[in-house]
Amino acid sequence: MSCTNSLSRRLFLQRLGLGVCVVPLAAGAVRVAQASDAALLSANAPEAKAVQYTEDAKSAKGAAAGNTCANCALYQGANGSTQGPCQIFPGKQVKAAGWCSLWAAQM
Ligand code: SF4
Repeated sequence: MSCTNSLSRRLFLQRLGLGVCVVPLAAGAVRVAQASDAALLSANAPEAKAVQYTEDAKSAKGAAAGNTCANCALYQGANGSTQGPCQIFPGKQVKAAGWCSLWAAQM
């Protein structure tokens, strides 16, 4: 094997590695952009009612004091956001001040 082949193989692998790293990042950015455009989940939607989702945790009968979507492990909104995606409701956003019966403590 010549030095040129070894060098071009190294360059190929470096570029392949860069591509493998950049493509998931770009896909993640697209998902975040799409998630921020998602419609707000209605508390009257059947899937919301099924887990007693409410936009105001203070009005929820089963919510422990201080538990809201904003501090739920399944909330994917940015810190300080007023609403954001939730892993339970793909394609929808929930209110940061909301709550549902699937609330989970962050690890
Ligand atoms: Fe809110 Fe968590 Fe329920 Fe999603 S799973 S609606 S973030 S409490």
